[in-house]
Amino acid sequence: MGHNPVRPPISPGGRVATEIGQATVRLAPAAAAQRPARLADLVVESIVDGVVSGSIAPGSALPPESALSEQFQVSRITVREAVKLLEAKGLVEVRRGVGAVVKDDSSWNLLDSAVLAAAVKHDANLTILDELVGVRIALESSLAAQAAEHATDEDRSEIEQIFRRLEADTARPEVFIQTDVEFHDRIMAASGNRLARSIVSTVHSQARTSMRYQGHPSVEDVSITNSEHRIILERILDHDGPGAAQAMTNHIRSAWNRRRPASPR
Ligand SMILES: [Zn+2]
Repeated sequence: MGHNPVRPPISPGGRVATEIGQATVRLAPAAAAQRPARLADLVVESIVDGVVSGSIAPGSALPPESALSEQFQVSRITVREAVKLLEAKGLVEVRRGVGAVVKDDSSWNLLDSAVLAAAVKHDANLTILDELVGVRIALESSLAAQAAEHATDEDRSEIEQIFRRLEADTARPEVFIQTDVEFHDRIMAASGNRLARSIVSTVHSQARTSMRYQGHPSVEDVSITNSEHRIILERILDHDGPGAAQAMTNHIRSAWNRRRPASPR
């Protein structure tokens, strides 16, 4: 990153008082276009990307505070705040006399949205996406069983209504994949397990930003997918917990096998 001769004005709290747009453009053009963010977050985002992509190796130390302050054109207070955030994400460990040392991937908090976003972005061999599909199978199958056993009449009727919309949407795969998310989410809501639903929603919404995950399903693909949805729906309407779990497992696994890139980049 080049040296910028004009430093943005920074308040004691580490925030840019004015010209946030210009300052963020220098730091991270993509992020700046989306939303005004705190400067520390932009420093964090850049370093998270470097660590998760492997361009900053585990075991190496980040440059000292003064160098990072110079490189990102932010105050040392902002750098200190950024390092604390990186520590909380499990990416670095501050050691006395050494500074912030990068930790290996066994320590990273993958449920942190910035870490997960970078992991999905740099998941060239699909390791994270395969793991994520495994998490969906484990949790959503169990939730489908709970939904089959505990859903109210209103839950069952709403799940069925979303299925009817899915049937209509098979002609438009780009709409279908949105309604598909609603179908799964409504089943999770009917299970009553808020924490599991939240975990799946968090990891799944991140996965869906990746074309490697989403693919380009055809009308034929989504028709097959919806025949699997029909089995899930029938098991739930029949109050068949084990059957609903099995149908959900089969569906998530088969759907991923259909769209998983054969030769990932
Ligand atoms: Zn589905």
